[in-house]
Amino acid sequence: MIKGIAASKGIAIGTVRILKHQEIVIDPTPSTDRVEELAGFKKAVENAKAQIGVLKEKALKSMGEHEAMVFDSHAMFLEDPEFAGAIMEAIENDGLRAPAATEQVKGFYKNLFASMDNDYMRERAADIEDVGNRIIRNLLGISDDFSDLPENTVVVAHDLTPSDTAGLDRDKVIAFVTDIGGFTSHSAIMARSLEICSVVGTGNITSLVADGMPIIVDGLMGEIYLTPDTDTVAKYDGIKQAFLKKREEMKHYKNSHFSYADGREILVAGNIGSVKDLDAVLENGGDGIGLFRTEFVFMDRDAAPTEEEQYQIYKTVAERIAGKPVVIRTLDIGGDKQLSYLPIDAEMNPFLGLRAIRLCFKHVDLFKAQIRALLRASAHGDVQIMLPMIGNVNEILEAKAIINACKAELESEGLAFNAEIPVGIMIEIPSAAIVADQLAREVDFFSIGTNDLIQYTLAVDRMNANISHLYDPMNPAVLRLIKMSIDAAHEAGIWCGMCGEMAGDLRATETLLEMGLDEFSMSGSSILDIKAAIAIWVEK
Ligand code: PEP
Ligand code: MG
Repeated sequence: MIKGIAASKGIAIGTVRILKHQEIVIDPTPSTDRVEELAGFKKAVENAKAQIGVLKEKALKSMGEHEAMVFDSHAMFLEDPEFAGAIMEAIENDGLRAPAATEQVKGFYKNLFASMDNDYMRERAADIEDVGNRIIRNLLGISDDFSDLPENTVVVAHDLTPSDTAGLDRDKVIAFVTDIGGFTSHSAIMARSLEICSVVGTGNITSLVADGMPIIVDGLMGEIYLTPDTDTVAKYDGIKQAFLKKREEMKHYKNSHFSYADGREILVAGNIGSVKDLDAVLENGGDGIGLFRTEFVFMDRDAAPTEEEQYQIYKTVAERIAGKPVVIRTLDIGGDKQLSYLPIDAEMNPFLGLRAIRLCFKHVDLFKAQIRALLRASAHGDVQIMLPMIGNVNEILEAKAIINACKAELESEGLAFNAEIPVGIMIEIPSAAIVADQLAREVDFFSIGTNDLIQYTLAVDRMNANISHLYDPMNPAVLRLIKMSIDAAHEAGIWCGMCGEMAGDLRATETLLEMGLDEFSMSGSSILDIKAAIAIWVEK
């Protein structure tokens, strides 16, 4: 048995598929057979077309029309005679091998698009990069093709990025297992959002498995069994059936709503990182969105999404959640989340560095585009703005000045928005909890980000599996800061929620209810468990 960290509940009995990112190495030497290189290129384009067709179908089914549109742009470049013509010319006239010719032309077009002064055209640079790399991978026989997975696939990887998961077939993939990461690392959070069983932080699982190996993943206990015998399979089949039955029974709580004895509502909301995560929140009866991590909208691309693109995404969420609150957090980049198009100087301690609101104040144009998109989306639902990594009053005042400037712009442009849009902050830095009384006077709500609050208070890296035993949400120092934040909020007449993973941790529910927390926000897969625990507490 291999031990890891139970990151997302469930039992999976299946076979291994290792996800590896093979490096692309291009041979710069001249070709020996131009005709063969040309034929190879044409074949690679045909293969790429077929793959993009499959990916588009899958994206349409799992994510919707908007997300699938990107594949139309990819197909368009593959059909473009100028793009293909330039590559063939480099093969025929310059004697380059097909991968080197593709790399050269890809680079030319990418720079051309990236230098245009129109947002839409600039974004096409990312499509060129993607399409070019797809052709090159086909030429070199590097497969990243996860479109043809067998039933009951368990994906095993060193770590997983959002784009790794986006391409995976939800009908076929039943579990994720990784070498690194902890319960609050972003791959674990993503697995819970997708309701896919997961064990992370196993140390070296990738070196112990091979494609096709039978495997059992116990996402309840954080255990892995390789090539299990028939008795073990039978035992886990029993555990799996019991787990599924219990999950079905919990649906009973889907439409339950709760309040404290004094009449104050207790909301159980969902955390999302994309439009597709909404399904799990809606299916489990979430009372709104308590945290939309917008950085995932910005990641795995070559340029920032435009205001218009963001507006469409935030509006879709607001509309689909139909009148319930949608708390959208502004960009939280830095720490373990980086953007290729926004390089940050190497930092000794990225989690203590240029992260989140600090980064946004350095890149005001990026921040303003997001604020304008959020304000415009507020005309379509109960959209609320949440600022991450706030440590003092001045940061709130600076952010509010920018929000007000954006409001004035939209007003003069005649664009609709909610002038009274609530603005809140995350309490995730100890200094914020300590001066919560001062901060509460400046904002409309608090949401406690325990993932960071715990790591900063206890000096325990949330990503480090070696010290995960010290990462304790119930540490009295952490509980005291949580209580101070809730009390300060109530004193100032505003609500206080929690959107860190502790909100979905059954060990903490009773304590948080006793402190009077107003809103619990978590991945969709935890909502029913927490609703059931609250039901028991309020009936006591
Ligand atoms: C947190 O820190 O608790 C939080 C919700 O934010 P993130 O996990 O995205 O850092
Ligand atoms: Mg955080």
